[in-house]
Amino acid sequence: MDPIIVTLDDRLADVGDTLPISGHIDVTSFELSDRSLTIPAGMDYDLMLTNAGEGILATGILRARVEAECDRCLDETVLDLAGGVEEYYLFSEPDEGVLEEDEEEGPDYSLVGPNATIDLAEALNTAFVMEVPYVILCSEDCKGLCPVCGENLNHVDCGHAEQMNAKAEEERMASSPFAILKDLDV
Ligand SMILES: [Zn+2]
Ligand SMILES: [Zn+2]
Repeated sequence: MDPIIVTLDDRLADVGDTLPISGHIDVTSFELSDRSLTIPAGMDYDLMLTNAGEGILATGILRARVEAECDRCLDETVLDLAGGVEEYYLFSEPDEGVLEEDEEEGPDYSLVGPNATIDLAEALNTAFVMEVPYVILCSEDCKGLCPVCGENLNHVDCGHAEQMNAKAEEERMASSPFAILKDLDV
């Protein structure tokens, strides 16, 4: 994602000052691991900047309508994502030991850049990535593809699933210790 630079001004000069900002990110595709996401209308964010004394806190929401492939049936599906954004931009590098750094993930803050600017790109990028589900489904009860003929079972009933269920049920009954009971009159 390209830098998204916001220049801080007098409206955030004092501790406790807040400034709402919103914007549009004209990104139409996003590669995430081996997944290809399409974002036809880009992303939109609504944030509140707060002067928190040591720095500027940015909190809010990132929204995006994403088109992706269903992991189960491979149909195109649409997801409306709304991810929480939270980033702290310190005015200056903290004294050592004041803020603990996570060695693997790096510091959990950013810095206000030269000329009193902050770059929202990383925070928004993180909010988006965190919101994309690990498994993408067109619906909770997507039936997926038929393992026998490959038809999309949401659209076509090829009958294979029924046959397989009936067979499995037959086998289950046959191997049940109660199998013998089914022939008895109760
Ligand atoms: Zn599906
Ligand atoms: Zn089938």
